[in-house]
Amino acid sequence: MSRKGTLFVITGPSGAGKGTVLKKVIQSLDRLYFSVSATTRAPREGELDGVHYHFLTHEQFERLIAEERLLEYAQYAKNYYGTPLDPALQHLEMGEDVILEIELQGALQVKKRLPQSVPVFIAPPSFAELENRLRGRGTETEEVILQRLSIARKECAAMDQFRYVVVNDQADTAADELRSIILAHRCLTENRGFTLE
Ligand code: ADP
Ligand code: 5GP
Repeated sequence: MSRKGTLFVITGPSGAGKGTVLKKVIQSLDRLYFSVSATTRAPREGELDGVHYHFLTHEQFERLIAEERLLEYAQYAKNYYGTPLDPALQHLEMGEDVILEIELQGALQVKKRLPQSVPVFIAPPSFAELENRLRGRGTETEEVILQRLSIARKECAAMDQFRYVVVNDQADTAADELRSIILAHRCLTENRGFTLE
């Protein structure tokens, strides 16, 4: 059996619950690699370099861009965020499915560059609930919260460009839906890499 993995691109507004839902899915599936992004934003309390993000300076990030070592990158709320190219490709080659959790501009770049990737939008049940969650998380200043809510409106307006939409009302249900999407793609004939002997 030899199959290449599938690239799943998970997008949705900040506070929709992408991290919460993905954690549940990643814990419950094997052969799944979560891509660790590079960013210039400062670590939040409890975030570890190399685990949650590769935390870089602006100069280090711009070097990655110049050396074409990113699959995609974007500026979001005054910081750079990007997906390191090599680890993602290596895990796909090894037959693992790869998950990117990235914002809209990056997701659209990946869609163009790798049209066989699978875009999934995680939506909040409403804008009011999105605001509650973003404030409830307590990780951003008021200025950044307002910036993220404004970006959220634009991101949600692009929802119909995504092949799948998962509404995160109950996190367990949303995780079940995302898990089902991944499992269904593993069952596609072209992804099976299987012949009867
Ligand atoms: P994102 O990764 O999309 O920015 P998070 O996973 O950090 O979002 O979730 C934002 C906040 O909302 C967190 O405090 C999280 O605990 C909470 N949250 C996530 N999913 C739900 C849900 N289904 N119901 C209620 N609260 C949720
Ligand atoms: P946060 O600061 O909340 O961790 O992330 C802010 C936004 O950046 C989120 O929408 C998140 O999905 C996105 N993001 C995280 N990593 C990447 C990445 O590698 N590329 C892009 N384009 N966006 C990313």
